[in-house]
Amino acid sequence: MTSHSSLQIFHGAKQEGFRTLGITVGKPPRHYDAFPLSKPDRWLELKDYHELMDRADELVAENVILIPHGSFVEYMGGKNYEKLPVPSFGNKQVLEWESNRTMEREWLHAAGLTMPEEIKDPKDIIQPVIVKYHGAKGGRGFFIAKNYHEFMRKIEKGQSYTIQEFVLGTRYYLHYFFSPLREQGYSVDGGILEMLSMDRRDEANIDEANRLGSINELEAVGISPTFVVTGNIPIVLRESLLPKVFDMGEKVVKESIKRFGGLVGPFCLETVVTDQLEFKVFEISARIVAGTNPYITGSPYMDLIEPNLSTGRRIAQEIRLAADAGRLGEVCS
Ligand code: ATP
Repeated sequence: MTSHSSLQIFHGAKQEGFRTLGITVGKPPRHYDAFPLSKPDRWLELKDYHELMDRADELVAENVILIPHGSFVEYMGGKNYEKLPVPSFGNKQVLEWESNRTMEREWLHAAGLTMPEEIKDPKDIIQPVIVKYHGAKGGRGFFIAKNYHEFMRKIEKGQSYTIQEFVLGTRYYLHYFFSPLREQGYSVDGGILEMLSMDRRDEANIDEANRLGSINELEAVGISPTFVVTGNIPIVLRESLLPKVFDMGEKVVKESIKRFGGLVGPFCLETVVTDQLEFKVFEISARIVAGTNPYITGSPYMDLIEPNLSTGRRIAQEIRLAADAGRLGEVCS
């Protein structure tokens, strides 16, 4: 499916010798012509995402394995995607756990991760908070409030929302990969946990709002900060924090095995690191994230695993390994 991280996914699959099929609604986007190493071998053009349900048999007959990414699951709809009878990389059960904010919190808490505090009653806002509408994607519509009055002024009636402590620090989006098949590496539960890369998202308008003035000044003229992702910036973490990174990843994987049979493949912990060097995790994305896109030819971490690796390529390697060992059922659902 085009968009999100698909240039990288097609590129990685080709590097590992797979034939590639690009699924698109309407005509294939022209920019794929500009990137021959990422252009799929063939296109499947659909009228809309629902048509995929009707074409499932065709895809199964061609031995297609779907690689889900954020946009695909969002456009298709979580429920439809779960019902789609085409093998898909990863454990589909994770969808419910990561898309439902209550279940996500239960999972990460049980794993022992620190999350931003949740404020149940807006009257209890005594520190800056971020208000997240349920179902909003890519930070759209979120707002910051510093007290109850500001909250009341900004909240849109009739929408459900979560109020979270606004964590001040630096944002790090950690891109892990859990392989239930490989044995050499940082072992976790019979498989290995890899740290492939990290990014920080560029978000408009908050990330460059200070070019125009302080947030208070901007709000005085009716401009509020927004959190719409526009791109991704590569990051390297100070090395002394890496043990914490692996510890968090390990706990999340172990808890996922207990709760729903385990995460497989790429996942991302979205964190803020405070000046006390504490990670506060505000979200998990349990699939490839677009923040891996700066690393099509390796990252400072992947270079220490294998040169010229990307998350897209790593997914293809896992499928190849599983197919050769007759274990596809363990990495696909
Ligand atoms: P996506 O699904 O694309 O990850 P989303 O709609 O679920 O996005 P979040 O990732 O929860 O939204 O938040 C969007 C942005 O808001 C984050 O990238 C970060 O910049 C900011 N943010 C979220 N939670 C917090 C927090 N508790 N403290 C400070 N900033 C936060």
